[in-house]
Amino acid sequence: MMDTLQKFMFEDSAVRGELVEISETWRQVQSRQTYPEPVRNLLGEMLAAAALLSANLKFNGTIIMQIHGDGPVRLLVVECDAALHMRATAKLDPDASLRGDESVIELVNVSGQGRFVITLDPKDKLPGQQPYQGIVPLDGGSVAEIIENYMLRSEQLDTKLWLAADRQVARGMLLQKLPREGGIGGPTDDVDTWNRTVMLGDTLKRDELLETDIATLMRRLFWEETIRVFDPRHPEFHCTCSREKVGNMLKMLGSEEVESALQEMGKLGIDCDFCGQHYEFDAVDCAQLFATDLTGSAIRPPGSVRH
Ligand SMILES: [Zn+2]
Repeated sequence: MMDTLQKFMFEDSAVRGELVEISETWRQVQSRQTYPEPVRNLLGEMLAAAALLSANLKFNGTIIMQIHGDGPVRLLVVECDAALHMRATAKLDPDASLRGDESVIELVNVSGQGRFVITLDPKDKLPGQQPYQGIVPLDGGSVAEIIENYMLRSEQLDTKLWLAADRQVARGMLLQKLPREGGIGGPTDDVDTWNRTVMLGDTLKRDELLETDIATLMRRLFWEETIRVFDPRHPEFHCTCSREKVGNMLKMLGSEEVESALQEMGKLGIDCDFCGQHYEFDAVDCAQLFATDLTGSAIRPPGSVRH
């Protein structure tokens, strides 16, 4: 089964929706690392949310959701680009011990220092253009609630999210009321449709969301509504790491730092947190990094190039 994202609209209204189910991509995310259950479920919900938002925003680029936690979870990162290529990872406090039923607050916002950051990084940046970054207050008992608050504040859009994840699947639904003036059906109809469909969404229980495929969910919830369904899209795992990017990261550390690490370890081994890809830089590689911008082939003598 392919991972699927399904957009739809309620006919003659400005209410739109999306359903997403992610299992293969989610399996690949989890294949690198085993997370304690509450962390895994939180990361899975963020994965579903990132796909829903990415398909929802008119934006050609990558949406990056990060939670910098002050509790047992230090960092959660989920990225999704306009083609629904996704990757995700989480970092725990190595000394943390979890009961297994922690709330979002207990995981990432124990002393109120946790931060939820949403970054929109455009694909084709103009010179000097910075990615847009929004800091989202962690005011809510769930990822869904936190993002609903964010959408209302930053986009002035009424948005409702239902998210659930377990080991097998991350599944979610989004409903949104778009602003409009005039047109077929009036704003009053929109409010009616909005209230009615949100109420239907609220009947969804976590277990039902986890156990039911999205086609069945759509029929079960909205069988009395007239719905226009768009072509399904397919989220996929894809890591954007590269030797060049790891090299740039080492350059940012500075030659002194890299030099001393080299002296200690002989060579530097770096594993990608997202996909597990291993990168190695020896003394020659590092010398080449810091001797750059002359020509690409500086330093390394001919004949010693590895493939
Ligand atoms: Zn990678």
